[in-house]
Amino acid sequence: MSLNPAFLQDIDAALGPAGWSQSADQLQAAATPWRGTYRGHTPLLLLPASTAEVSEAVRLCARYGLAITPQGGNTGLVDGGTPHGEVTLSLRRMQAVRDVDPINNSLTIEAGAILTSAQHAAQSVNRFFPLSLGSEGSATIGGLISTNAGGVAVLRYGMMRDLLLGLEVVLANGDVVSQLSGLRKNNTGYDLKHLFAGAEGTLGIITAATLKLYPQTARASAWISCQTSSDVVALLALMRDQLGDTVTSFEMIPANAIEMVLKDRPGTRDPNPSQHAWRVLCEVSLAQPDLAQTLLEKALTSALDSGLAVDAVLAQSDRQARDFWTLRESIPLSKRAYGRSLNHDIAVPVSRIADFLHNTEEALKKLLDPVEIVAFGHVGDGNLHYSVCEAETSSAQQLVKRADEITATIHRSAQLYGGSISAEHGVGRLKRDELEASRPAAATAVMKAIKQALDPEGRFNPDRVIASAVRTQTKRTDDAV
Ligand code: FAD
Repeated sequence: MSLNPAFLQDIDAALGPAGWSQSADQLQAAATPWRGTYRGHTPLLLLPASTAEVSEAVRLCARYGLAITPQGGNTGLVDGGTPHGEVTLSLRRMQAVRDVDPINNSLTIEAGAILTSAQHAAQSVNRFFPLSLGSEGSATIGGLISTNAGGVAVLRYGMMRDLLLGLEVVLANGDVVSQLSGLRKNNTGYDLKHLFAGAEGTLGIITAATLKLYPQTARASAWISCQTSSDVVALLALMRDQLGDTVTSFEMIPANAIEMVLKDRPGTRDPNPSQHAWRVLCEVSLAQPDLAQTLLEKALTSALDSGLAVDAVLAQSDRQARDFWTLRESIPLSKRAYGRSLNHDIAVPVSRIADFLHNTEEALKKLLDPVEIVAFGHVGDGNLHYSVCEAETSSAQQLVKRADEITATIHRSAQLYGGSISAEHGVGRLKRDELEASRPAAATAVMKAIKQALDPEGRFNPDRVIASAVRTQTKRTDDAV
């Protein structure tokens, strides 16, 4: 698609030569998501360096009738931030920490900053920013808010939406809404920040955010073996009974996922090799380091006595705790190295996880035999990353051929158990139609009315989350990790 030269001249005048690019390499990188499983295309990459420049770029795109895809780290997994013909507006030149306030327990940071920058800014004033996930070295604050990201500490601190105090957003007409005062109490009408959280760039471009900080805590981590998924779920209840809200993370890992990581990453080792089907990575955080370790040890003794846990190792150092997490965080990439997989990001009520796992596997066996399932993740939130992998004896073609049936089976099962087919990764173009079909019509009508009110010409991320007049489709390959 060729662009009007007058538009490019106006963009150059507004953003300067560093503020835009049409280099083939940069356009290709912008159009290729993290997994590279689908390709987009874009005629122009905009790189504004300030909120005023984002606003001017949006006004110019509107004047020349161009749609925009806002982009952060491009780590999203549902085809939301990859352009399909739109101009790409990257926030990567907006990474400043504007303010960090340990008394107010708040951090104001620009949308293009990566998550680890927010974590480090908090640490620099002896505070803690709790969001943590595998893509934290690339995913940006704007992208994390736009997808309402979750991760490994949701159990205690909630999702990105729960960590928001305020936002600065550029609207479709170029106006800026700025609410960055860091107030915790502010009942002054509609809560606009929550409209943009989880909107996946369809309602406005986030340029900065004020986030909640917490006191620093000391952590104690355990690597636990369990026999069955019911034991894992019962163990979670036992740990929370004994340790209350100090349980920060509770990740469920099947034995076959460990095997994949060990095979793929020489140098990694299982902290406690065992024949049992499940491992749990449980983390407890408290202000006092010794107490965290002591309380976790005590709870583990009860877990072993009850038979819910069959074995457990307590990390003796930060290094050992990090090794536990490396093993857990390596699953997505190692699974990929092992072969093709169909991935799903689902959630079911925690109490129904074991039944869901059992019955879904039975249903899948009717489609694929043998079937290799890797179901892992944030069991404390009922959120599992459910992958059907290329088993040694069933060919990749079989997996691809039956992909739609496999996905439909998993999603049907999640819904049957009162769950969601989009737990933490969002909707994008990938799940748009499936969600529209299963959502009450009245809810879709409200969503369309909000979109119409904020972006009447459909300039921001057309066709993501809700369909535009000309519906486009992403072919399902991989979505979740
Ligand atoms: P992008 O991918 O660039 O964009 C995502 C969406 O947000 C797009 O719709 C885009 O248009 C929009 N957007 C981006 N920036 C802005 C902005 N400034 N204003 C408005 N809209 C914007 N997610 C989880 O929730 N939990 C996990 O545990 C998790 N683990 C992951 C592990 C790996 C290895 C990977 C690759 C991904 C994982 N993810 C996880 C998903 C991913 O990291 C998130 O979706 C992330 O929030 C996206 O951030 P991003 O900056 O890459 O955004």
